[in-house]
Amino acid sequence: MPIRILPPEVAVKIAAGEVIERPASVAKELIENAIDAGAQEIHVEIAQGGRRLVKVSDDGCGIPADEVELAFARHATSKLQSVEDLYRVRTLGFRGEALASIAAVSRLTLTTRAADEKVGTLIRLEGGEIIHREPLGRPPGTMVLVENLFFNTPVRLKFLRSDTTEAGHVARLLSSYALAFPEKRFTLQNGSRLVLRTTGTGALYDAIVAIYGVDVAEQMFPIPRPEEDQPVKVWGYIGAPSLHRSNRLEIIFFVNRRWVQDNALSYAITEAYRTLIPQGRYPVAILNIELPPEQVDVNIHPTKREVRFRQKNLVFVSVQKAVRSTLMAKHSVPAVQVPRSPLAGWRPPARSTPSQAHMALELYRPGELPRLGDSQERLSTPPQTERLPMLRVLGQLAQTYIIAEGPGGMYLIDQHAAHERIRYEELKAQRERAEVASQELLEPLPIELSPRQATLLEAHLEDLALYGFEIIPFGGSTFLVKRVPAQLVGQAIAAAIMELLDAAIDGGKDFSWEEQTLITLACHTAIRAGQTLSLEEMRTLIQQLEKTSLPHTCPHGRPTMIHLSQAQLEKEFGRR
Ligand code: ADP
Ligand code: MG
Repeated sequence: MPIRILPPEVAVKIAAGEVIERPASVAKELIENAIDAGAQEIHVEIAQGGRRLVKVSDDGCGIPADEVELAFARHATSKLQSVEDLYRVRTLGFRGEALASIAAVSRLTLTTRAADEKVGTLIRLEGGEIIHREPLGRPPGTMVLVENLFFNTPVRLKFLRSDTTEAGHVARLLSSYALAFPEKRFTLQNGSRLVLRTTGTGALYDAIVAIYGVDVAEQMFPIPRPEEDQPVKVWGYIGAPSLHRSNRLEIIFFVNRRWVQDNALSYAITEAYRTLIPQGRYPVAILNIELPPEQVDVNIHPTKREVRFRQKNLVFVSVQKAVRSTLMAKHSVPAVQVPRSPLAGWRPPARSTPSQAHMALELYRPGELPRLGDSQERLSTPPQTERLPMLRVLGQLAQTYIIAEGPGGMYLIDQHAAHERIRYEELKAQRERAEVASQELLEPLPIELSPRQATLLEAHLEDLALYGFEIIPFGGSTFLVKRVPAQLVGQAIAAAIMELLDAAIDGGKDFSWEEQTLITLACHTAIRAGQTLSLEEMRTLIQQLEKTSLPHTCPHGRPTMIHLSQAQLEKEFGRR
């Protein structure tokens, strides 16, 4: 389509606003233009974090000579024409604002040649004014060079961070586009250093290798793109639970290949990993969400980083289902990494793949995924389970670990972590049926709290009743504990209550208060490390563990067991 100025009735409908706030915003708009132009190769170069220079070249369709000046007018675009088009945007850009906004705050040079024209064009602007134009020979495609960003807006210049930080934003941006468009070749050069180069094979896995390295890539589980027609398709790669990070930055979504930020979706993912990774840590996920363009409103935020789904719940549930079922199918007992031994010629065993290390305790079978409700989706329905070969208990080690033998070799089970998992699922089931076993204390237990804790406890008294507590105010900051969850009798009751209050203070960080309560109670009622167990007790514990839905991790996300396979043993002893 030719470039045209949007009619006023369309222009006013566009969520406009200043989009250029840092070098990465320039890079973003130029990369999106290159992608929209059908480029196969996109080269990005920056200098001094992008404040001195951002240059993007592509081999896309180019701009016809007679449209070059128009491209810099506000609301000039070749990507939509009518208001209706706004409701089914298929390109990354659609507002016709970017080139104008960038040119207004920089010294900009653009060279371009449309594939079907013999001569190209060079145009130069300064602070938005065209200062030079000439014909130019060049291959089809476009190059935009943005120099001295914000030279005429000193205030914005002041808001820029260090060169390293700004360059980091550009690198993250480029990585994201490279993941969204694995069929295109991207390079990023920072000064004289080549920061990133993707191969453009079209395989997402190859892009992941280029960006994160082989080590990380090997720890990613694929979610294949569904073949059949579904209203929402979710596919990509998700990290094994062992691959957790300290922030959410590596949870990346593309909605119809647009890199978007969506807190609800991030939440759907962290939820799916809940109790599989440690508290306060976040998974890695690169997910494509594909749905009909009319189901997504991309016109709600000036940077186009946020979108609105017409059927939010459907998207949320589809994402959580895809992630959860992949995790359920892949997750297995972590294998022991045997430390380097002094033997000559010894080589560390290859990382065992899930299939080697697997001990199929209980997994959801395909088609038997628990159904998800709306908005407050919880995977609470107990899954269908498979009985499995029992582990034979051999003994206890350091009063902390249970040594057991199974068909696949030797297992070391952390008695506390395993029991925590059991207790957690027990309590959760009881809580859902509103029948947490509760017991009256022979003598009410007085507890002294700080004023802040007292206020919190006051506010949570009714909630705590649902978990089997009966606590009554006893003047000032003192309370009387009359009933507690049955398993808590004989344990450190006051300490458990304090911890529940701490959870209420931090509340809603990663776990809901309810979740946190279950975890805390599970922890406080579980067998401790250092406790001697009889053979019978250990057998019971293993049997109960086999019945849980997620036997391999405790509710905090730590492993409950490690596995040393027969093959590994043979290798270690030089039998093979
Ligand atoms: P938008 O992308 O929203 O249309 P822009 O201001 O980013 O607005 O670009 C204006 C127009 O210039 C685009 O619609 C497109 O026709 C043209 N254009 C910009 N960059 C390129 C490019 N790299 N290759 C081909 N055409 C381009
Ligand atoms: Mg654009």
